[in-house]
Amino acid sequence: MPAVQRQPFCARLIIIGYGSIGRGVLPLLLRHIELDPAQVWVICPSGAAEQAARDYGVQVEQQALTANNFHACLEPKLRAGDFLLNLSVEVSSQALLAFCQTRDVLYLDTCTEPWAGGYDSAEQPPQACTNYALRHGILALRGAQDSATAILTHGANPGLVSHLVKQALENLAADIGQQHPVCTSREDWARLAQALQVKVIHIAEYDSQYAARRKEPGEFVNTWSVEGFIAEACQPAELGWGSHERALPADARRHPYGSQAAIYLQRPGAATQVRTWTPGVGPTLGFLVTHSEAISIAEYLTVGEGAHPDYRPTVHYAYRPCDDALLSLHELAARQWQPQPRQRLLDDDIAGGRDELGVLLLGHGKTAYWYGSTLSIDQARTLCPHNSATSLQVTAAVMAGVVWTIRNPRRGILEPDELPHREILELCRPYLGPLQGFYSDWTPLAQRHVGIDPPSDEEDPWQFRNLRFT
Ligand code: NAD
Repeated sequence: MPAVQRQPFCARLIIIGYGSIGRGVLPLLLRHIELDPAQVWVICPSGAAEQAARDYGVQVEQQALTANNFHACLEPKLRAGDFLLNLSVEVSSQALLAFCQTRDVLYLDTCTEPWAGGYDSAEQPPQACTNYALRHGILALRGAQDSATAILTHGANPGLVSHLVKQALENLAADIGQQHPVCTSREDWARLAQALQVKVIHIAEYDSQYAARRKEPGEFVNTWSVEGFIAEACQPAELGWGSHERALPADARRHPYGSQAAIYLQRPGAATQVRTWTPGVGPTLGFLVTHSEAISIAEYLTVGEGAHPDYRPTVHYAYRPCDDALLSLHELAARQWQPQPRQRLLDDDIAGGRDELGVLLLGHGKTAYWYGSTLSIDQARTLCPHNSATSLQVTAAVMAGVVWTIRNPRRGILEPDELPHREILELCRPYLGPLQGFYSDWTPLAQRHVGIDPPSDEEDPWQFRNLRFT
């Protein structure tokens, strides 16, 4: 490991949740930040955090936060200048953020989480369960630009991938020989993407990690939060909707408010597959699971406004989860989306594989460009204890976001796209394995078996109807 220049921080850090991400990030935070372990609290309903008290000397409180008790739990612990790091499930990001903003407490989370039941479409209309609606609600809390810094959704994806998009655009411009001014604003990045004629951006991930013990019937297995994955997989599929798209899918709906950068489909992400490409296997299928980066990146790279701007790329997640999670999703669908009775997180028992997580820029002069992290389980374990390849891509970005927030404590509420990508990537880079780009001449029409699967639009391969598989 290269020598680390530790970031001083003499206030209190409270971490909510101690699952795969909490456990993986704590050693990284202690490595990169000068923290007094007595000033670090982990709040978690399970007894899992007791191990953190033994390993690192941090304080632990066994507690499940709810809408009714979170004030009473956090109020005595947090003063102005302290840090709240939300790494839980079923705890409202919006409620914690509002609490922190009124008390000058620094804040970071890795997704826009509602209170328990907030994703449940049996209780409310599908549009209320979208990330578009959750994001709109949380961004409405933006007030003074110099309020306490709060970074929303800063894990791997959402999070790191927003910085990878900027780096990929710069790399592509250099390789194509496209002259452009240094990008210093949102508009500059949008104009660069437009000039490069990027039509589609996939967050293209292929997780090939596996354990010796295979998935059993009635069990959901994954390399990160099972609860979190089931929740997002059952939300409506969502995507940033590009200006080149000719036809809105029949099952698509627009939102009548906000930037209108995204649409949602009236079916869950776990039932929506797309054709995509990752460097290890080449062409593959991924699930179009909703993620906030699909909305924020599409909005950030928009030239013009509203539902019909001059330019906007189509942006969405294309997730090929690990083999056992794939089987778990299949079983989940067969169970009419009723979660399996048992869950299993793959961590110390992972026997091999890697996580390829990158951004796939499509439709430009060099056809397809994937840029990202290819991290094996063995590399991840060497780089930081208590991490898999999947969790380290997340925890490195969480650590980088926390360090940046401490260095810049009065920047208000920010999304990943609004942070300086070079500084964040520099902090993350040692933990991402090879961070590299791959070009391909792949298109969704390439080698298509037209007898089985006729293309919908032969004139433009980059129409969503060509990329969509189910
Ligand atoms: P996990 O399921 O492994 O752990 C969740 C933790 O939250 C557990 O410790 C659990 O006990 C705790 N928890 C549950 N209910 C709680 C409550 N009411 N109050 C306090 N704590 C509670 O999840 P994980 O894999 O560690 O993921 C943590 C969060 O990070 C999830 O919201 C997940 O969606 C998100 N995530 C984001 C990314 C990204 O790249 N942006 C990647 C992975 C996970």
